Amino acid sequence: MMKADKMAELLNVDTALERILAQAVLLPDEEVSLTEAYGRVLAEKISAEDDWPPFDCSAVDGYAVRSEDVATAQPQQPVRLVVSLDVLAGQAAQRDLQAGEAARIMTGAPVPRGADAVIMVEDTNAGWGNNPSAPSPTEIAVYRAAQVGQNIRPKGENVHAGQALLSPGRVLRPVDVALLATMGLVAVRVHQRARVAIISTGDELLEPGQALSEGKIYDANRYALEGLVREIGGIALSRLPIARDRVESVREVFRQALALRPHVIISTAGVSVGAADVVRLVLDELGQVDLWRVNLRPGKPLTFGHLRGMDGLVSFFGLPGNPVSALVTFDVLVKPALLRMMGRQDKPRYALAIAGERMTSDGRRSYLRVRLRKEQGHIVAYSTGTQSSGALVSMVMADALMIIPEDVLVIERGTEVQVKYLNEC
Ligand code: AMP
Ligand code: MG
Repeated sequence: MMKADKMAELLNVDTALERILAQAVLLPDEEVSLTEAYGRVLAEKISAEDDWPPFDCSAVDGYAVRSEDVATAQPQQPVRLVVSLDVLAGQAAQRDLQAGEAARIMTGAPVPRGADAVIMVEDTNAGWGNNPSAPSPTEIAVYRAAQVGQNIRPKGENVHAGQALLSPGRVLRPVDVALLATMGLVAVRVHQRARVAIISTGDELLEPGQALSEGKIYDANRYALEGLVREIGGIALSRLPIARDRVESVREVFRQALALRPHVIISTAGVSVGAADVVRLVLDELGQVDLWRVNLRPGKPLTFGHLRGMDGLVSFFGLPGNPVSALVTFDVLVKPALLRMMGRQDKPRYALAIAGERMTSDGRRSYLRVRLRKEQGHIVAYSTGTQSSGALVSMVMADALMIIPEDVLVIERGTEVQVKYLNEC
């Protein structure tokens, strides 16, 4: 448990997020072609310029007729019509339909003027196999009367000119892009993707693939952050060398990061006591950065501010080194800022769950790794094991983070608590 005087020095999680979001500036927009638009965030309002379908068209393969001509048609008393026109998909009718005439027509082909209904092939003696390359019969027998408008998709039935279709902030899915194509658009305005440089720091870190020796561990944070940045549509600039716990090394890696012209730099580790001075020294040199102690578990220390980049200020987040702390602080404090910069409006997903077992906290706002099960219509949350901030495995097994509010030390089994879904982590 934390002492009350220590707790008082900690910044509330919501206040920290508010301050971070107040600094998150919407990135400019750019125009991209439709094939580049998937997953991008729409920066303009899309309204239909024209009706869709753009003309009255047939919903079936069949014969366009004047409904009054076939009003008396029955299986025993068919009406005979002269097939005078042949309208294939993609073609316009050669002329208007006259009384006593039918036009062979394919699905999606424009209905000739004068016709007000389409009879399905099955309701004529033309039979199946209405093959466009086969010659049209010269006469047909119609076995059934038709309602006005039958089997016709009228112009503007799906979309009318001026109709609002998509709003800014929408993450474009394939079906949205298809709608843009339907409207004849070739390009759309979307927000720029955030360029995020990712830096790991620590003398103990090795790249996967290097031989492990006493005291060394592999860099996990870079791989978590690279994936998370990409998952929300950012560009991860992650091919930077690991910064060692020396001023020159940290300065060199941060310089390299700034040369990549990022919008944001995220570094992990090296800002808690111990090595703190090294990274802090360099940050003070390169910009203006504050160290916050946030009332959050796991992940108390957070560095936030700006560095001077080549094109202006670059937002900076210094996250804790322990992988779970880095992931939780990213999820709670960094991701909302990146989403806002990219114009996205998605919000975190929460649910109410029942604690499946007794859980404890230290008075900070805690985000505990839990697995969710459906039991008798309720969502029940169970700990995934050790809540140590280095235990990445218990994060891997988690479906959600259970939020234990500030000043609560025990959650008894059966208590209702809020959980935050974690499916992206
Ligand atoms: P620090 O903030 O430098 O004191 O690091 C806290 C803990 O996180 C230490 O046990 C580090 O070894 C560990 N750590 C720091 N960076 C990484 C990383 N990139 N991947 C995995 N563990 C890390
Ligand atoms: Mg370290």
